[in-house]
Amino acid sequence: MKRPKIRTRVTAAAAAILISSALVLVQGGPANAYSLYGCKWSSATISIRNITAGVYSTASSAAILSWSNLTDVTLTASSSSPFVVTTYNANDGLAGKTTMSTATNAFGCTITGANAAGNTYTGASYSAGKKRFAYAHELGHALGLNHSANNTVMAPFASYYDTYLNNVPTTDDINGINAIY
Ligand SMILES: [Zn+2]
Repeated sequence: MKRPKIRTRVTAAAAAILISSALVLVQGGPANAYSLYGCKWSSATISIRNITAGVYSTASSAAILSWSNLTDVTLTASSSSPFVVTTYNANDGLAGKTTMSTATNAFGCTITGANAAGNTYTGASYSAGKKRFAYAHELGHALGLNHSANNTVMAPFASYYDTYLNNVPTTDDINGINAIY
């Protein structure tokens, strides 16, 4: 259910979350074990500004729609939104990265802005499906999720897409978002 949220007075803080594209042999944690970042947008209806182009627009638009359709969050397009979906290009070993502005008060931590970016340097070798995974993953961070099991879109490494092919929020991812909003 969508529920109205209390808008909180905030002070500035910042955080950054990255996804590694490296093939690393680690455990992603137990199944169905979503992890929450601890901050959330002040409402379950969240405006978003997608400034990607071309194949990255195709991937990010599909990812945005999937979170909005499958979870209690509703994402609405707005050219003035502090939640920006974009690209960057760097040989940094990452599939994408998300930075957030957050603010904390007695009521908790509120996300006040986010920049969810797919890396076109790494993404150049990605299939359309894996590009979409990268955006689904970064959007999950921007909505308040940390990494989860390997067979989710919040898997800790992009390489897990190659095994599980999840680029649409899984039950675990959906449960995580619905636990927040
Ligand atoms: Zn990540």
